[in-house]
Amino acid sequence: MSDIQNVMVFGAGISGKGAAAELADQGKTVFLYDDSPKTLELDLTEKLAKCGGGFVSGNLEEVLAKVQQVVLSPAVPCNLPVLQKARKNGVEVIAEIESAWRSYPGHMVAITGTNGKTTTTTLVGEMLKTLPVKTAVGGNIGLALSTEVKGLDKNSWVAAEVSSYQLEGILDFCPDVAAVLNLTPDHMERHKTMEEYGRCKQNIYKNQTAKQVTVLNYDDPEVRTWGKYSRGILCYFSRTAALPEGVYMKEGSFFIRWKNAVKEICHKDELQIFGAHNEENVLAAIACGFFVGVTPAAMRETLLSFKGVEHRIEYVTTINGVPYYNDSKATNTDSVIKALEAFPSGHIILLAGGHDKMTPLEPMMNLVQEKTDLLILLGEAKERFYQAAVAAGVENIAMVDTFKAAVETAHARAKAPQVVLLSPACSSFDMFHDMGERGRYFKKLVRELEN
Ligand code: ADP
Repeated sequence: MSDIQNVMVFGAGISGKGAAAELADQGKTVFLYDDSPKTLELDLTEKLAKCGGGFVSGNLEEVLAKVQQVVLSPAVPCNLPVLQKARKNGVEVIAEIESAWRSYPGHMVAITGTNGKTTTTTLVGEMLKTLPVKTAVGGNIGLALSTEVKGLDKNSWVAAEVSSYQLEGILDFCPDVAAVLNLTPDHMERHKTMEEYGRCKQNIYKNQTAKQVTVLNYDDPEVRTWGKYSRGILCYFSRTAALPEGVYMKEGSFFIRWKNAVKEICHKDELQIFGAHNEENVLAAIACGFFVGVTPAAMRETLLSFKGVEHRIEYVTTINGVPYYNDSKATNTDSVIKALEAFPSGHIILLAGGHDKMTPLEPMMNLVQEKTDLLILLGEAKERFYQAAVAAGVENIAMVDTFKAAVETAHARAKAPQVVLLSPACSSFDMFHDMGERGRYFKKLVRELEN
């Protein structure tokens, strides 16, 4: 739609500001709207003002009456009645990733799934860096896609992490390689049903043609069935099945088999990240890397040097033969289950608790009973967690009042071959600003003990 001159960007967060800046650079008049007043950075304010736009708050319908296009931040649902009405009046409503995609002349790998997006996207981003072209990483990872694709050219490659919220509002978005990692219940407050959540995720490959590649998880019973809807080149990955064509694991090694040629990339014991979930992320990254044209040797080198993403079973240090891991990102019980399963020999000293999400605890506590030598509980959740742990037969439980006491208790009690793992199954808001601050504080306390 080249006749678009006035645009409203809905939501002044990271993506909204990125989109607004890019659209203003294209010479559009941009109204950056947010429900609550925001102070913008001076250079953004100036940039918007130059083309007659600026930050607006308050009467949404008044702003909508002035524009031909609305660009949505991920937090804004596409089907708000006010947006439905705008559509009827001929206003185009699109997600920020759609706007970024339209402004970008190069190639893209897009990755979605309920879990593992950031890890896989980061890994693919590292693989892309081995190519002799400009590359970038952006999207749901905390870097606006609109900002990260700036300055790239038609030969560039971008690794984009895309969430269901972002995919909900695409129209023509069509990545060269689209990967879906998994689908488990999440975000029901927005999507209402699993069908709708899945439909949004499927948008990642809905515009693909025979030239593009769809990468799907063969081991996820729902995602596997999506192959029949792909019009692109279909590549499955699997931890458990030696696929006749695709990316798979056999005896601990990662293989790609395509058009009857088989290549071994590396063995899982050579990696610095571990756990079945990370093996799936590695398989997906290999599939993406392969179709982008990253050589097997470059993929191997990238995989062997990849240390994982901060706060996701992140190795901190070893004290008296006991390794410490920061898994502050584990804000729900599913993530804690993944982390506990990642240590096959058990002997875990688990630090859990924080702001309680009030979800069922039984499956997690059954595994805690099996895998841990000591459970240290803290935060608002500790009483409920204690009851659930006792009910699951967990015997060694310590209750502490502060985060520091939790780390000190772990240190005082831990002996090799035990491992200390912070994997809270809770959000951090009772004690911290966010999970990042919690993870960094954990690492600081551990390093102090080391000294
Ligand atoms: P996302 O960006 O989708 O939230 P991350 O890569 O940040 O995913 O990982 C977040 C958490 O999700 C991890 O700490 C881990 O507990 C879990 N996880 C990661 N990868 C997977 C996977 N492939 N399958 C299931 N769970 C996973």
